[in-house]
Amino acid sequence: MDRLGVVVPDVPAPGIQFRDLTPVFADAAAFRVVIDAIAEAFAGRFDAVAGVEARGFLLAGAVAYATGTGLVAIRKEGKLPRRVYREAYDLEYGQAALEIHTSDLAPGARVLVLDDVLATGGTLAAACTLLERAGAVVVGCAVVLEITELAGRAPLAGRTVLALESV
Ligand code: IMP
Repeated sequence: MDRLGVVVPDVPAPGIQFRDLTPVFADAAAFRVVIDAIAEAFAGRFDAVAGVEARGFLLAGAVAYATGTGLVAIRKEGKLPRRVYREAYDLEYGQAALEIHTSDLAPGARVLVLDDVLATGGTLAAACTLLERAGAVVVGCAVVLEITELAGRAPLAGRTVLALESV
């Protein structure tokens, strides 16, 4: 294990090199570095943190607590109990949809969006779209690791994207 996680070949499909960051989160010192770096990079610029299910939740809860901001869950479809906005998107390996409650954010809330990995960018682009439909202002996205060969910044063009590490 290193700061870039553990590479797991052929997960979740043949030919894909999955980067498992859970050991980074399990390391107390590394997790603190990650949370502090994200919080400091966007200090004073956001009112709420949005985490993308599921590993984005791990980051978002900690950043929200550390910065005294609110936490919004962006979930995979069918999980939220009230009225939602829904956004379908393409994954590196398949298709999916994300949802957000229509009423979890105050209009104009400044939101920082968090996930563990930026791959093709479809997930974060859908998350940003959802937040804007809910009336939020997306101030930026942050990930622990960017897989640069998958060009994930393209669908996020014009947005502020922080990647703590890249491969
Ligand atoms: P994208 O939409 O292609 O950018 O994929 C990013 C989403 O898929 C994030 O929610 C990640 O958690 C997940 N993901 C894609 N590739 C990896 C990986 O190699 N390791 C961990 N998560 C990944």
